[in-house]
Amino acid sequence: MNEFSRIETFLEAFSRRPSPAGPGDDAAVLPASGRVQVVTTDSLVEGVHFSRRTFRFSDVGHKALAVNLSDIAAMGARPTWALCALQLPEDVSTSDLRQLSSGMSALASAHGVSLVGGNVARSLQLSITVTLAGEIPKGRRPITRGGARPGHVVYVSGPLGSASAGLEALTDGKREVSKKGPVTVDKAWEALVLAQRTPSPHVRWGLEASRFVSAGIDVSDGLLADLGHVCVASGVGMALETGALPVLEALLSFAESEKLVHTHALTGGEDYVLAVTVPKTRAAAFERHMARLGHGAFPIGVVTKARELTVDGQRWRGGTGFQHFT
Ligand SMILES: [Mg+2]
Repeated sequence: MNEFSRIETFLEAFSRRPSPAGPGDDAAVLPASGRVQVVTTDSLVEGVHFSRRTFRFSDVGHKALAVNLSDIAAMGARPTWALCALQLPEDVSTSDLRQLSSGMSALASAHGVSLVGGNVARSLQLSITVTLAGEIPKGRRPITRGGARPGHVVYVSGPLGSASAGLEALTDGKREVSKKGPVTVDKAWEALVLAQRTPSPHVRWGLEASRFVSAGIDVSDGLLADLGHVCVASGVGMALETGALPVLEALLSFAESEKLVHTHALTGGEDYVLAVTVPKTRAAAFERHMARLGHGAFPIGVVTKARELTVDGQRWRGGTGFQHFT
């Protein structure tokens, strides 16, 4: 397979848009919509974010786009187009590449994202970098981290701690069921593994919440770490209640103690749920609006004047989340 046939193979799963949107020319040509644009980029690197033992190629393709969709969702934007740069080791076969691309294209089409260009390079490690753009609906503003004020209510869009428990299930030899191929685990923990391998970014939730929120972020590195960024940007603190943290049944059965459930929920990375703050006067209308659309909105605490993050009234002792470089 030469470079061009690799590109063709990867593009097969994507429905091609006629020019001028690309791909196929030296650069993508994009129509200007007159709306506010947001752009983000993120990489998925073998050995850092996934291993071929615990992920199928389709999972890798899905997740490479999902992590970017989550950032676009956190801005309250609607995703539009993507660029994809692939670093491929020689041992990635045509069928592996097809799986990778079908995992990504299925999620792209579910969210109306067009792949407008990219690059393929030979590499020692499999790595996928996606650049994703989105636009802010007319009459709205992007959700940023700086608008939380004392008294605002803190909400999350879905269960916490699932993905980190899923990773633990996949990598802890004692929990493993099959020794061959991608690892499988006990049925009871399948929901956790799904959250780790194929997260569902809350794009619609972010778009709807943007009518009400004062600040927001996606939970990628761990709830405390990510809310910490909101606190710093807004010059506030937060008081969270562990009893209010939404978690899956599967996490309760997986973690061996309540303390471990809370540790996953507060510090586990990669959940790709959204965390937002809503002014108290808007909170009831926000909850009603989200309920009407069938979206969960879970209040987990309040914004405080004191610039510290507390959990059940105390400072959290222990790590707050994932960092690449420490
Ligand atoms: Mg983010």
